[in-house]
Amino acid sequence: MSDCLFCGIISKKIPARIVYEDEAVAAFEDANPQAPVHTLVVPKKHIPTTLDITEEDQKLIGKMFRVANRIAKEKGIAERGFRLVMNTNPEAGQSVYHIHLHLLGGRPMHWPPG
Ligand code: 5GP
Ligand code: ZN
Repeated sequence: MSDCLFCGIISKKIPARIVYEDEAVAAFEDANPQAPVHTLVVPKKHIPTTLDITEEDQKLIGKMFRVANRIAKEKGIAERGFRLVMNTNPEAGQSVYHIHLHLLGGRPMHWPPG
């Protein structure tokens, strides 16, 4: 989608620190990190919100989680623990309407979240 920030990053029109990429998924460092590790895992397919996930996306969504696990292991936070978050729509704080899995870690995470 031409006016989507994350489609712009995926197509390399907008710079980002990409840490993982395959045919279906990309991951890059969040520009405004909320923890020592804050990486965003995105599908290359433009899906605006989690409400738009369809049956045909099931494998893709599973892959996003597997990529997040891999990055957590690479960054040495898997055993300590980490948080995976997807915000949906305004009240949850979604600001970019291309789904993304936040991988957060490297510090204790609080619960309930704010
Ligand atoms: P949301 O609020 O939609 O759940 O998460 C959007 C995330 O994208 C935020 O954590 C924000 O810091 C990050 N972000 C916004 N603009 C950019 C950008 O241009 N580059 C990168 N790498 N991250 C961005
Ligand atoms: Zn997009």
